[in-house]
Amino acid sequence: FKIGLRSNCISRAFLTKSSIRNFSAQIGSKLDGKIALITGAASGIGKEAAKKFINNGAKVVIADIQAQLGQETATELGTHASFISCDVSKESDIAHAVDYAVSQFGQLDIMFNNAGIACHTPPTIVDLDLAAFDRVMAINVRGVVAGIKHASRVMIPQGRGSILCTSSITGVMGGLAQHTYSISKSTVIGVMKSAAAELCRHGIRINCISPFAIPTSFVIDEMRVYFPGVNDRGLAKMIHDNGVLKGAICEPEDIANAALYLASDDAKYVSGHNLVVDGGFTSIKNLHFPVPYEFKS
Ligand code: NAD
Repeated sequence: FKIGLRSNCISRAFLTKSSIRNFSAQIGSKLDGKIALITGAASGIGKEAAKKFINNGAKVVIADIQAQLGQETATELGTHASFISCDVSKESDIAHAVDYAVSQFGQLDIMFNNAGIACHTPPTIVDLDLAAFDRVMAINVRGVVAGIKHASRVMIPQGRGSILCTSSITGVMGGLAQHTYSISKSTVIGVMKSAAAELCRHGIRINCISPFAIPTSFVIDEMRVYFPGVNDRGLAKMIHDNGVLKGAICEPEDIANAALYLASDDAKYVSGHNLVVDGGFTSIKNLHFPVPYEFKS
C-alpha cells in the first residue's frame, strides 16, 4: 500500500504487524487524484469523511460555517485538506466554494452536501413554527439544492462526477424526529432522485446516505434540551442503546465508509440510491426510550 506519498504518512519502520493491518485498513487509493468538496466538514460525519477521502488519495476542500473550527480541522487533516468559509444557505457561498475548488485544483470530482442542522420546534403539526421550518429548510434542503446546482455546473462540462447528500433515517420513516427535521431529510431524498434523473445523461452519479443516530455535536445539543438531567455520556448511551444491530454502534466512520463507496468507482453504476446505514433499524422500527417528539398535545 502507498505510504510516503501522503502528507500524513507514517514511516513503515515504526509500524508493528498489527498496526500495519489497522493502518492499511484505513489507507487506500480508491480516490487517488480526486478533488472533493464537503460541506459541514468542520466536525462530525463531514470531518470523518474528509479524513477517509484524504486517506484514499483525494484532496478535500472543507466548507463550513464555523471558520475557526473548520480551519483547525483542515490543519489537523494535513496538507491535502483546505478550508473555505461557507454558509450553505447562501447560494453565493456555495458557488464560491465550488469555484475555489476548481481554481485551486482544476476540477471537482466529488461534491458531498453534508451540512445540516436540527431544530427545537414544538412537536405537533398544529404548533409547527414555520419561521423555524424555513430556517431549517434553507440549510438542510436549499443548501443541498444549491450544492447540486453548482457542482453540476462544473461537473457537466467534465462529463463525470459523484454527488452525495446526507439525509437521515428520519427522512425514511416518520416519528423519529420532529416534523421540520424529518421533512427536510425526506425532501433531500426527493431532491436527489429528481437530480439523478437529469444528471445520468451527463455521466454524473448522485446518491444519498441516511445515517442512524450518532452522538455528534448537533445531536447532543438537541438532546440536552429534551433530557436536561442527563450528561453527554448518558445521552450518547441512550442513542447507542437504540441501535438494533448486536455488537455494533453507529459511528461517523460507518458513514464515511458509505461515502467512500459511493464516491469511488466501486459504485460506478450506482445512482439515484439512498444508502441507509442503520444496522437494520428502519426494518425493525422499535424504540426503547420515550421520544421527545411524541405527538402529545
Ligand atoms: P455536526 O454538528 O458534527 O456537523 C454539522 C456541521 O455542519 C458542523 O460542522 C456545522 O458547523 C455545519 N453547518 C451547520 N450549518 C451550516 C451552514 N449553514 N453552512 C455550512 N455548514 C454548516 O453533526 P453531524 O452529525 O456530523 O451532521 C452532519 C449531517 O449528518 C447533517 O446533515 C445531519 O443532519 C446528518 N445526520 C446526522 C445524524 C446524527 O445522528 N448525527 C443522523 C442522520 C443524519
